[in-house]
Amino acid sequence: MAIMRAMVLDRPKTALVMRERPVPVPGAGEILVEVKACGVCRTDLHVVDGELEHPKLPIVPGHEIVGRVAALGAGVTGFAPGERVGVPWLGATCGVCRYCRSGAENLCDAPVFTGYTRDGGYATHTVADARFCFPLGEAGDDAEITPWMCAGLIGWRSYRMAGAGTNLGLYGFGAAAHILAQVATWQGRRIFAFTRNDDKAAQDFARSFGAVWAGNSDEAPPEELDAAIIFAPVGALVPAALKAVRKGGRVVCGGIHMSDIPSFPYALLWEERQVMSVANLTRQDAHEFLSIAPKAGVKCEITRYPLARANEALSDLREGRLQGAAVLIP
Ligand SMILES: [Zn+2]
Ligand SMILES: [Zn+2]
Repeated sequence: MAIMRAMVLDRPKTALVMRERPVPVPGAGEILVEVKACGVCRTDLHVVDGELEHPKLPIVPGHEIVGRVAALGAGVTGFAPGERVGVPWLGATCGVCRYCRSGAENLCDAPVFTGYTRDGGYATHTVADARFCFPLGEAGDDAEITPWMCAGLIGWRSYRMAGAGTNLGLYGFGAAAHILAQVATWQGRRIFAFTRNDDKAAQDFARSFGAVWAGNSDEAPPEELDAAIIFAPVGALVPAALKAVRKGGRVVCGGIHMSDIPSFPYALLWEERQVMSVANLTRQDAHEFLSIAPKAGVKCEITRYPLARANEALSDLREGRLQGAAVLIP
């Protein structure tokens, strides 16, 4: 029997443990993927730290998977063995609820999420629903494009929701922000980057990806913002961002989890400012982003870790010791 290795979370707030398992056999409609690289997303931290409730346990985290098709389950068409594929956070949807039927499958009532409710990519192999995998072609390094699969896709959805204004604020300059900054700059928009207070390294990092201004998250930007996207999981940034956007401007919360939002004066919301969240992704978002990212020349800053050092990668992300994205290599 062929054996795979996986980093497994037995219960929240404990370290992942390396385990060997039989390589799974893909069921009908599924593909077996040999993982080449898997990005580490902040959502993985929320799963490991118990901030997202009811994960499948034990669970193999990881939903920024780049790999090769190793075997096809019954009935799978459109993929060939050896083809490079991406596996994202949205693992499957029900296809019949009101959201699925109305083009909002990101809000499906009975979704499956990779690395949360089904095993993900902190492993040498994983099985995925073929309908929710994307062909990636051969351009680009496996590890360097892993952040596209979540930071890119959900970042893109957030970016779209932020509207077409010129001045865009990004709160929290990590994996998603450094991708969007490149797309936005390519489109002729102006990025204002907000980081933890006095994090000069992060501010320099933001400027190196095209931000016209970078400063502390409690600072007023030098110009009014048309919109802002908050990627840092910090509720206090909502009133801060509302203060920075113009009349009619929008604040988009791009994360799956955030600390409580403190109360704030109604005047910050007044004049038709809006606050909204972005949840998950649709396959349409993925097709849009995967077509625009190569044109925009998106390059990701990554730090590689061997699969066995997944716990270290998670700690480095948790403690803010990373610029760009951590990527696990099996
Ligand atoms: Zn559904
Ligand atoms: Zn993610």
